Amino acid sequence: MSLIVGKDTRPELAVRSLLHKMGFRFRLHLKGLPGRADIVLPKYKTAIFVNGCFWHRHSACKDGRIPKSRVQFWERKLAANVRRDCETLKQLERLGLRALTLWECEIEKNLPAVRRKLHKQLRVTRPQKASEKIRDNTYTQV
Ligand SMILES: [Zn+2]
Repeated sequence: MSLIVGKDTRPELAVRSLLHKMGFRFRLHLKGLPGRADIVLPKYKTAIFVNGCFWHRHSACKDGRIPKSRVQFWERKLAANVRRDCETLKQLERLGLRALTLWECEIEKNLPAVRRKLHKQLRVTRPQKASEKIRDNTYTQV
């Protein structure tokens, strides 16, 4: 879902290292899932998206504003991204996965809040019984 060019962006690395410190194990960029989540925790049936505020139009965030030039172009382009994000979340839900969106700005400015968010989401989603777990071979890793 992230449209930041290239993988392993700085905010993404920060989230990975945070998850690691919190003791969660995860997979990266699993193919075959809608939206190609940045980080997937199969045991918790959770997909994490690390979203750039501009590209995904973070509402109530100064980085989520439309630029002052080429307004129409950007409005159309970014609206398409938001629509796609929305569709992705619905598709994941249909597959029984929960999606957690983390924003670039919160990762950069307030990592403790991100930690709380992760903790909250992953604690309420209890690990699945073995039979319900997403098997590793369900998806192919990139
Ligand atoms: Zn933001």
